[in-house]
Amino acid sequence: EKKKKPAPKLTPMMERYLEVKKQHPNSLLLFRMGDFYELFYEDAEVAAKVLGLTLTSRDKGSSNPIGMAGFPYHALDNYLQKLIRAGHRAAICEQVEDPKQAKGLVKREVTRVVTPGTLTEDSLLDPRTSNFLVSVSVHKKSVGLAWLELSTGRFQLTTCSTSDLADELARLSPAELLIPQGLEDDGVFAESALTLNETVLTERPPWSYVADTCLDRLKKHFRTQSLEGFDVEDSSHGVVAAGVLLEYVQETQRTSLDHMTQLENYRSENTVHIDEATRRSLELTQTLRGGHRHGSLLQVIDQTVTPMGARLLADWIANPLTDLEVIVSRADAVEELTQNSGLNRDIRSELDETYDLQRLAARVATGRCNPRDLVWLARTLKMLPKTKALLAARKSNRLQDLESRIDLCEDVRAAIEPCLVDEPPLNLTDGDLIRPGFNERLDELRELSRGGKEWIAAYQAREIERTGITNLKVGFNKVFGYYLEVTAAQLNKVPDDYHRKQTLKNQERYITPELKEHEEKVLTADQQSLALEAELFHELRQMVGQHLTRLQQTAIILAELDVLTCFAHTAMEHRYCRPELTLSPVLDIREGRHPVLDQMLPSGQFVPNDVLLGNDVESTAVEGQTEADTLPSLDHGRVQVITGPNMAGKSTYIRQAALITLMAQTGSFVPASEARIGIVDRIFARVGASDELSKGQSTFMVEMTETARILNTATDRSLVILDEIGRGTSTYDGLSLAWAITEYLHDITGARTMFATHYHELTDLAETLSGIRNWNVAVHESDGDVIFLHKIVPGSADKSYGIHVARLAGVPGQVITRANQILDTLETEKTDEQGKSTIPPRQTDKATQRQLNLFEPPPHPILEELKHLDLDSLTPKAALDRLYELRKGL
Ligand code: ADP
Repeated sequence: EKKKKPAPKLTPMMERYLEVKKQHPNSLLLFRMGDFYELFYEDAEVAAKVLGLTLTSRDKGSSNPIGMAGFPYHALDNYLQKLIRAGHRAAICEQVEDPKQAKGLVKREVTRVVTPGTLTEDSLLDPRTSNFLVSVSVHKKSVGLAWLELSTGRFQLTTCSTSDLADELARLSPAELLIPQGLEDDGVFAESALTLNETVLTERPPWSYVADTCLDRLKKHFRTQSLEGFDVEDSSHGVVAAGVLLEYVQETQRTSLDHMTQLENYRSENTVHIDEATRRSLELTQTLRGGHRHGSLLQVIDQTVTPMGARLLADWIANPLTDLEVIVSRADAVEELTQNSGLNRDIRSELDETYDLQRLAARVATGRCNPRDLVWLARTLKMLPKTKALLAARKSNRLQDLESRIDLCEDVRAAIEPCLVDEPPLNLTDGDLIRPGFNERLDELRELSRGGKEWIAAYQAREIERTGITNLKVGFNKVFGYYLEVTAAQLNKVPDDYHRKQTLKNQERYITPELKEHEEKVLTADQQSLALEAELFHELRQMVGQHLTRLQQTAIILAELDVLTCFAHTAMEHRYCRPELTLSPVLDIREGRHPVLDQMLPSGQFVPNDVLLGNDVESTAVEGQTEADTLPSLDHGRVQVITGPNMAGKSTYIRQAALITLMAQTGSFVPASEARIGIVDRIFARVGASDELSKGQSTFMVEMTETARILNTATDRSLVILDEIGRGTSTYDGLSLAWAITEYLHDITGARTMFATHYHELTDLAETLSGIRNWNVAVHESDGDVIFLHKIVPGSADKSYGIHVARLAGVPGQVITRANQILDTLETEKTDEQGKSTIPPRQTDKATQRQLNLFEPPPHPILEELKHLDLDSLTPKAALDRLYELRKGL
């Protein structure tokens, strides 16, 4: 019988490696070995690829070599960043005892698992963006959601309906999402998560989702009897999600999580509901194409000067408010700041000097703060008295409130400033972080060390004199400590009392009992002072950690102050006005501008436009008059149908209406000369057909699914802006759908609606439905030339100008003339055959047939092709490309 080949014997260290790896099967294990982190087996292969490391192997000679890759320990942050960016998790296994003191194998433990959602280091995070770890728990009809920004400790939960999950996830844009095992394959979830292309999914076992366990875990963490104080009872599913999240953070972090002091119940009714498609098409925080921050609303209004402010602003933009009072209190503060530009500037320049107090405080709590962090924290606290003084005697409630709640934390600063030097090293182990004079014992040790070093320097001079070895040198290395170095040429002068320690190529190294004695003094003093410095630092850190809640509160105030002064700054710089907010369902914007285009175009080139929409109930109720006396209500109609040629500015116009509304509800001023805005509960935007084909659904299907959602969820307090709905299907279908959708929005939903369309037929709707108004884009015509004025005016457009666009694009004159002829013919036929109020078939098959007949004989191939172009469904870019192609054929 053949004997099985015995498995190659592993070293004890590799055995330990495998043991640890077994506990972290889903993470890359970074195994500390001396000055390196090493990865083995498949981990090594992955790391080699992602990090560009050389893949080598351990036990090269053996039949079964182990793949291995590594990097020096000081490069950890750099490599971690790459691993995390590539969507990996990393378990960091450190040597947890001093190798010099270890008997046998050095003890190694995983001290932390780094995952995309649990980062706290500035070097791994974008300072101006929140990094959310989100947890979903799935129940029968709804889902629980909890999210945490570990780097600041903000922890929130909510319960939402399954159908809202996608919108909530889009709002949060998670870095990492915890889901129950197996959920990834669940149909509903998979659809909701479709938009999350950057999110890392992490599965959690079913037993983590037991409600009681979750509740207990949270109570234990917050050291409370119940969660009553957090007002989260009505969100039992959210509590499950939060419990799962907490468990995961505890498991991966293995540090104190004392900075997670609060659990907030996020109530969606307090904010404007913005669904995922709307968020994208309005380009709130990212542009539609490419997903860049540049060109988004956030980017043009973000003039914050601190990272805390930048993150809070992003939060405010993502969550506009519905509560009139709160919005007004923000706007009051902004107004007061705009009226005192000097004050605004002074506050901003104070804030500019502050560091990221939120993240600093969190690092203190998790024990990951370094000496420099504490110095920065103290410097930030130092700015507070001036900031507080600047806020004294303000009129607006909000500023008064912020002023009163700024906690100067003078005791914290008083503890840090005398303790740490002004520019301490990043690492504790480098020493020299505690200020001289702070601790007597430390001063003594430093004196001893210095004395010893001075003695050694003097000793060198003395020995040169005594021995006559002119180039005698005292050197130092880690292995031998201090030694005397003599070059080969001078060896004959070496006295008897020198003990040879080491022979190098051209020199010998010696020690003497005297030298060793002083060396001992120096090294012990150094070691002791390092240890003492570390101890003093830990004490300080602990002391600061006890004031966490106060620091966090102050950090939030600074963040808010940053956003409010940013609003004021942007308002002054770009001539924004304070919008008047009302509960009336109205939208009245005078000389409104698109906030992004306004800044992108050269100054003065953007053409401002008015928006008049909705029924202004309040402004017509004149005081002292009974209802019967009131003036005829100012009714601008609740549905606008906006017609006009392509590229005239329709989508810009309707988007700007939505953006101005949204900005107003964050408390910001708006780009207009005047605005009266009725608070909306939801905003829906379907603008600019986005390229959804990659998701495997037809554009038309996507468009209809989204439209269905609007019709099913919009209310009479919502704002709906639609662009070219129904374009993805045949003309008949599309027009009929657009027609019916408009009727429904008008009759049933009652939402304020702006509908930009190229179906001129829709303008007929205004004749029968009282709440529909026609608007169009003014066009200047002279000598047959057309100039788009980008001005939106009442009334319906009478021409499509498609032929003019073709002329502008350089289509040959002959074609243009012919096209005009055909158009005339078609238009005459239309009225003859159909009468006025019916929907005229503009591009029916029959009509096309007629066109064909008109071109006989013999049709030019290019004209032939032109005839078959569906101009209405072409994007300007595609049209231009096509024209170039056509010209090539001439
Ligand atoms: P439409 O939706 O009618 O096809 P867009 O809204 O996409 O047209 O506008 C086309 C282009 O016209 C925009 O990219 C912009 O450069 C310019 N534009 C639109 N509105 C204005 C305006 N009010 N002032 C100046 N330029 C504008």
